[in-house]
Amino acid sequence: DGRVTAVGGAEILDLRGPRTEVVDLDGRCLMPGFVEAHAHPTQDQMLYSDTVIDIRPVTTCRTAEDVHTTVERALAAAPSGEPVLFYGLDLLLQRGFPEPNRARLDELGPDRAIVVWQNSGHLAWANSAALTGAGVRSDTPDPVGGSFERDEHGLLTGRVYEAPAVSAVVAPILGAELGTPDLLARRHADLAARGITLCSDMAFSDQLRPVTAALYQQGRAKVRMRVYEMSTADGLTYCPLDNGDDMFRQIGIKLWVDGSPWVGNIDTSFPYLNTAATAALGLGHDHRGQANYTADELHSIVRAYFPLGWQMACHVHGDRGADTILDVYERVLTTFPRPDHRLRLEHCGAMTPEQFRRAAELGVTCSLFVDHLYYWGDVLVDDLFGPEHGAHWMRAKSAVDTGMRISFHNDSPVTEEEPLRNMAVAMSRTSRTGRVLAPEECVTIDQAIRAQTVDAAYQLFADHLTGSITPGKYADLVVLEQDPCAVSPGELPDVGVCATYLGGVPTFTA
Ligand SMILES: [Zn+2]
Repeated sequence: DGRVTAVGGAEILDLRGPRTEVVDLDGRCLMPGFVEAHAHPTQDQMLYSDTVIDIRPVTTCRTAEDVHTTVERALAAAPSGEPVLFYGLDLLLQRGFPEPNRARLDELGPDRAIVVWQNSGHLAWANSAALTGAGVRSDTPDPVGGSFERDEHGLLTGRVYEAPAVSAVVAPILGAELGTPDLLARRHADLAARGITLCSDMAFSDQLRPVTAALYQQGRAKVRMRVYEMSTADGLTYCPLDNGDDMFRQIGIKLWVDGSPWVGNIDTSFPYLNTAATAALGLGHDHRGQANYTADELHSIVRAYFPLGWQMACHVHGDRGADTILDVYERVLTTFPRPDHRLRLEHCGAMTPEQFRRAAELGVTCSLFVDHLYYWGDVLVDDLFGPEHGAHWMRAKSAVDTGMRISFHNDSPVTEEEPLRNMAVAMSRTSRTGRVLAPEECVTIDQAIRAQTVDAAYQLFADHLTGSITPGKYADLVVLEQDPCAVSPGELPDVGVCATYLGGVPTFTA
C-alpha cells in the first residue's frame, strides 16, 4: 500500500511474498526522497507558458549580453500589442545591464505592456502601458506591504515593490496563464526528475486552489504538496484548518518582514557598502533597507491566524527584522501557547548566532537559503556587505548547534531545484568562483542530508509520513547514481538521479 514494511539486511528477504520484486541497486544509493521546504511551484508553472520569457541568471541568461539578446528576440517575436513579461533579471549577476526603468521600457515597447520581474520576486519594473493596463495611476494608494514608487514630482517611476503591488501589474499580463493543470503537471514532473517527493508552496492563494485540486483529482500529481496561503491585511482565509490529505494540504500562512538583499530592502542593523554595484541598484550612500511591515502590522497578522491553529512561516533576511518577528512570535506564544507550533523563519540571511539561539528556545524552526552562497557569495562580500556580514551569510552551523531542526531550500524560481547542490554548498560554503565564506559555518554531510529530508519534512508537519526510510512511512524514495557520503562536496551536485518513487510508485526514471 505504498508504505515501508521493513528495513534491514538480508534477513528481510524472508518477508518476500509471491508478488515481491527484488531490485538490485547495483552500487547505486537509495535515500528518502528529497524534501523542498520552501519553493513556489504554483508560481514556477508560469515559466512553462508562452507569455513569460525566462531571463534568470541561474538558467538562460548568465550575462547582461544574454539578457539583451533574449529581450530583443522576444519583443521582435511577440505579436504587436501583446504584453510581455520577463522573469528573472538580477543587476548584480547580470552586471552592466541598465536598470529597465519606465522610460527605457517605454522606448522598447510604447504600444504594449512590458514588465520585467526581478529574480527575487520582490521588485518589478513596469512600463506606462503595463501600469495603465493594471489601473495603477500616480494617485493610486499603495497596498499594505507593497508600493508603487514615485519620483520627487509624484510620478510613477515604474518600480513596483513586493507581492501586494507586483501582483497588480503582473496578474493582468498572465491572465489565464497564471495557472493551469497542464502547466502545473510539467512543474511536478520536473520536481520528480530532481528527486523531490514533497514540496512546499510558500505563496499559495485561493485563486490557485481549483488548478491544484484538478491536478490531484486527475491523478497527475508527482509530489506531495504542503502549501502556505499568503497572509492578507484582513487576516482572512477561506480554507478550513482541517483540510486536504497526505498528498496535498494547506498547513499554514506566509508572511513577510522585509524583502531581498539583491534589491536593497532587507531590514538590517548595518548599512550596505558604497560600491559601484550598490550605486547601480539605485541605493544611496550608506543605504539601509527597511521592513515592509511595522511590528504592529506583523503582530496583527500573526494574531489573526495563529490562534486558529495555523502554522506561520515568515520571510526575513535582516538581523533587525529577525528581532522584530521573534518579538512577535514570543508575544503570541505567551498569549496563545501551543506545544507543537513549529513556527518558521524563512531564508535567515543575516541572522546572528544569538538570534538562532533565541529562535530555538521559542521552538521556532528555520529554513535557510544556502544556495545564496554559491551564486551571490562574491557579491555578498565584495559588493554589498563586506567580509564580516557578507561571509557569515546563512549561518547554518550556528543554527544546527542550537539543537534546532533546519532545512535548506532553493526558493525556486529564484534558483533551480538542486537539493544536492544545497547540501554541497552548506558543507563547503564555496561560491561559484571558488571562494570559501566563513568555513566555521560549514555543516556535516549528515546534517546536510537531514536538512533536505526528514528535518524539512518536520517543518512541513509531514515527518510522520515521509522524510526517512522507516516502517510505516510512505515509500517516498530517490535512487542516486552514487552514495552522497562517498563523494566530495565538489562532486556532490553532479550526482545523478536515477529514479524517484512516491508511495512506492515511480514518478521518474532516468
Ligand atoms: Zn520564497
